[in-house]
This record gives sequence, C-alpha cells and structure tokens, in this order.
Amino acid sequence: MSQPSRPSRPYVLLSAAVSLDGCLDDAGPERLLLSNAEDFDRVDAVRASCDAILVGAGTLRADRPRLLVKSAQRRADRVAAGLPAYPLKVAVTASGDLDAGDPFWTTGGGKVVYTTDAGAVLARERLGALAEVVALGDTVDWARVLDDLASAHGVRRLMVEGGARVHTQLLQRGLADEVQLALAPLVVGEPDAPRLFGPGAYPGAYPGGSRHRMRLLETRSVGDVVLMRYAPCAPGADDSPTAADRHWLALACALAADCPPSETAFSVGAVIVSSDGTELARGHSREGGDPVVHAEEAALAKIDPADPRLRTATVYSSLEPCARRASRPKPCARLILDAGARRVVTAWREPDTFVARADGIGILEGAGVTVAEIPDLAEAAIRPNRHLIPTTGTHKD
Ligand SMILES: [Zn+2]
Repeated sequence: MSQPSRPSRPYVLLSAAVSLDGCLDDAGPERLLLSNAEDFDRVDAVRASCDAILVGAGTLRADRPRLLVKSAQRRADRVAAGLPAYPLKVAVTASGDLDAGDPFWTTGGGKVVYTTDAGAVLARERLGALAEVVALGDTVDWARVLDDLASAHGVRRLMVEGGARVHTQLLQRGLADEVQLALAPLVVGEPDAPRLFGPGAYPGAYPGGSRHRMRLLETRSVGDVVLMRYAPCAPGADDSPTAADRHWLALACALAADCPPSETAFSVGAVIVSSDGTELARGHSREGGDPVVHAEEAALAKIDPADPRLRTATVYSSLEPCARRASRPKPCARLILDAGARRVVTAWREPDTFVARADGIGILEGAGVTVAEIPDLAEAAIRPNRHLIPTTGTHKD
C-alpha cells in the first residue's frame, strides 16, 4: 500500500452564535444579531488568525456577509507576518447559483468556489474573474474541499461561518476539529428558525452518536455572551481518518516521546478510545519498569477484557502494531485481534530495523480490522526513534 504524501488537512473551526434555544437566526427577513460588539470583535480576531474563511452559498444568498477582517491593525499584523491582508474567502455551492453583486465577491482578498461539474459552468458564467472556481465532480465532497485548500492554497487553519447545513455536514463527517459557540441571552421561540446542527439523516449520523461528549477546550464571558470551545473526540468509523482520529493519534505520538530510550526497540505510544470518544487506556513502550512491554500491550492490559466497549473501540498506535516479536509470545496485532477491537489508526509503518517485512497492518486487515493511516503524523512518530533508523521520513512500500 502506498502512502501518498500530502500536506495535512487544515484545522477546521466551526464558528457560530446561537440563542438560548439553539437558533442561529429568527424566521424574519432581517438578520437577528445574536452577538454583542465585543463578541463581533472577538470573531474579527479569529478571522485574522485563519488562512481562510468558508461559507455556504445559502448563507451568502440569505445574509450577504462580507467576511472581512475589519480591524486595520489586525490586517497590518497579517501583512507584517508575510500573509495577505485578508484571509482567503471560500464559498461552497452545489448549484453554482451565486450573485456577483454580493459584497462577498467585491471586497477583501482572494476568493475560491468549490462546486460540482455542473455548478462550475454556472459559477464561472456568473463570477467571471471574481473568483477561482474548482469543480469536484457530481457532488461536493468535503474531504476533497479540505485537501484542495491545503494543497492548492496552503490553508492550515480554516474558519467556517455557516450556515447550518455546512456546520451539520462537517460535524457529521467528522471533519471539524473545533466548535466555537457564542451563546447569546435571547430566546427566539419560533419553530421554523434555523438551528445550528440539524437532525441526522440516519441514527448515529454524528460520530459517536448522542452519547459522544465533546472535549471542553475553553469557556469565557464576552460581555453578556458566553463563548464555549469544544473539540469533537469520537473516533471515525472507516479507513478515512477524521479530525478526532488526528487528535488521538497525535496524543499517541506524544506518548512515544515519553518512552525510556532503547537501542534495541522502538519508542511507541498507544491510546484506546471507545466509539463514543471515551479514552479507555493509554500506554507506551517499556512503561512501568517493564523493559520489553509494547505500547498497545501496556494499554490493553489496563482494560477489563470483558469490557463491551472494546468491541467497538479504536486503537491508536504511533507505529504499526507489531506482527512478530521475540520478547513475548503474542505480537500486538494478535493482542488487538484477541481483544476484539475492530479499528486501528497509525502513523508510521514499521521499518526493517528489527524485523524484516513486518506487516502488522496486513495481519489486522486480513482479520477484518479496519486500518486508517495518517502519514503526515509519521514525522512525530519517528522523532523519538531517529537513532534507530538510517534514513528518516521514508516508508516501506
Ligand atoms: Zn508490539
């Protein structure tokens, strides 16, 4: 299996203000202002900290936002840091039904539209030279939008400013790293008012389902508004890694750096997470004074084998689980299969340093376990092992 190298997907931050009853707006024609002046200034600072700001075409049509950095000082600071004065503005539309008269297109810096093949024809006709138009086939796939923003536009941090459908789709696809929610002291009380996150199209539409508790990153008062920052942490479900997968695997890579150094074994970190985002255990190589224990083995030993959550858990390991080992009868790939875990996420394929052609991933996949790889975290996984491998940053095919 090849590991294509590509820049990391951008850090995706969903930003919204909601009323106490969870609404983004009322049903009237005029936009309901939920935030206060102080919070609008906070949003301006967040915009200035991002490489791009994304919005759905429905929000463009309904609200006609400019999505600018209003503060001249913040724009000057960006320019001084070698950035464009304004973040890239990104619009997403399936139909290509855009209005060149919207101030979104005539203000600020660069603009790009992601749309379907059919939508691209209309979007180019409407916008002419006002924006770059990228056609993505029959549908607009969010993972491809993010990959293209990273590779073609160098976007590392993306702010998403709605609307509800865009927020809902990114959260349901597991592509949001953070939700920034400003809670405003208003009650809208209208049944048709738009809500931040829509109902799922199927049970468990949101990763981890209704029992998934996001990680609280921060709360802060901003005048009469309360800012809450949450990070989704329920693992993905297939071999396409999610934002939460990246978080947990980065933690495993950080644990690898805690291992007592060795000349005869790799330093590896592992975290085991249930499908609702609860951390069940973590471990690292040679922990607790055991000179030969492996990371996945150490983590699994901390969980009751009868714990039913193991059957739907994801095992994060900085290095591909081992296929053969001399120190213990069972390699980690076997221990993971015996534990019943159905999904593994890893950053780095085992080089031939200690075991020739180890293929832990092949063993796991052969037994029906889903394996997802995040190769752009390989650097962090390899770092504590630099002294053990002749060449760095390369992968075995
Ligand atoms: Zn192992």
